[in-house]
Amino acid sequence: MRYLSTRGGLAPASFSDILLGGLAPDGGLTLPESYPTVTPGDLAEWRNFSYPQLAFAILHRFADDIPAADLRALIDKTYTAASFLSDVITPVTPLGDGIWLLGLSNGPTLAFKDIALQLIGNLFEYTLLKSGGHLNILGATSGDTGSSAEYALRGKHGIRVFMLSPHQKMSRFQTAQMFSLQDPNIFNIAVRGVFDDCQDMVKAVSNDADFKTRYAIGTVNSINWARVAAQIVYYFKGWLAVTTRADQHVSFAVPSGNFGNICAGYIARRMGLPIRRLILATNENNVLDEFFRTGIYRVRPTDAVAHTSSPSMDISKASNFERFIFDMVGRDPAVVRELWRQIDAQGYFDLADTRYFQAVQESGFVTGSSTHQHRMATIRRVYQESGIMIDTHTADGVNIGLEYREKDIPLIGLETALPVKFEDSMVEALGCAPERPAGYENLESLPQRFTVMDADVDAIKDYIAQHAG
Ligand SMILES: *Cc1c(COP(=O)(O)O)cnc(C)c1O
Repeated sequence: MRYLSTRGGLAPASFSDILLGGLAPDGGLTLPESYPTVTPGDLAEWRNFSYPQLAFAILHRFADDIPAADLRALIDKTYTAASFLSDVITPVTPLGDGIWLLGLSNGPTLAFKDIALQLIGNLFEYTLLKSGGHLNILGATSGDTGSSAEYALRGKHGIRVFMLSPHQKMSRFQTAQMFSLQDPNIFNIAVRGVFDDCQDMVKAVSNDADFKTRYAIGTVNSINWARVAAQIVYYFKGWLAVTTRADQHVSFAVPSGNFGNICAGYIARRMGLPIRRLILATNENNVLDEFFRTGIYRVRPTDAVAHTSSPSMDISKASNFERFIFDMVGRDPAVVRELWRQIDAQGYFDLADTRYFQAVQESGFVTGSSTHQHRMATIRRVYQESGIMIDTHTADGVNIGLEYREKDIPLIGLETALPVKFEDSMVEALGCAPERPAGYENLESLPQRFTVMDADVDAIKDYIAQHAG
């Protein structure tokens, strides 16, 4: 399997070559030269597979330069009951009426990002042990991604994590989740400022090429190809759980922000998984819904991003979207370069009235956006009808999913976080707080380990220089 860049400037590379990188050197995103195909015979064979067996069957096609025994061992070590509550890893729960919930939030930080990041942590460590290298991961977080990355990389050989977060601006639960980690390779830095200050500091450090090389600075953001690949697995797992025959179709409802999760669903469909509809749900930040309805992809200024009750979907642009557009324009990197030049120049591109938009409309996507009111009503409705509590992000997906539901086609809603992570919204919707899973009861009273710092690029550079591996 060879990988290329959506902007055409990457010599064919292997999975391991692109594993540790973020953007391709030409500013594009990496994708396989072609998608592997899955036959009805494969699907039949996979029916009785455990999650790790299924993950191996799929991922070895994308990561064919990692020796099979090694990849199998990394996957077996990742997807365990100890990390994901049970051997099922991603259980499905019936909500009644042909609607199912695919539980993706049983990992250590109680959100779906763990599924990919726990594997990434093991893949990074394996690659660095082989090369003898080391990596200093620098990131900024307003909550979810940072904690998923820290729980994936804690205690890993050759890796240190420097995570910036806005001082006293995350929820107590999120703060405690990150700051209670005592692993010596994790450095939590609370910046006196807002999230954008943190992100600006990360950008400033990354733009200093000398510093970046000298201290082997890396990232684990949502454009990492291996994250998308690892997410393809649970679309197959969900389909296998609710069907009995290879010709049955299902639809997936996906709460979306950076287009990472649903990009994996799109690729699963391209591989031959019988997915009827990919139902993309946004919150009030409806960049993606607007595109699929109008053909106009319009990036929002940062200060126009609404702070909503599904905060992990509050985005100004969808960083994985370029992968999808690359396919829609017939994989022509010159077209992709031109479209992203237009974004830089005028803030949007418009595909309406082009043959590319026809391809978009035939790609299986349908979309919608939810408001706070929809979210609250959906949480109440699901709770009243099934007794199951869903979080605000999952509710955005279920809400739009119900809009597009078809008779006789099972609808699978992706559960992207547990309600306990968004306690205040749950109390608002239901009048009571969700129960905490075992082991999380006293999270906020555990000792915390962090450093407070001004929003000062030299200060973070000094700190990294002192503590880098
Ligand atoms: C990150 C996240 C999303 C959005 O996923 P994308 O891959 O960015 O589209 C949705 N829900 C939750 C809870 C998340 O943490």
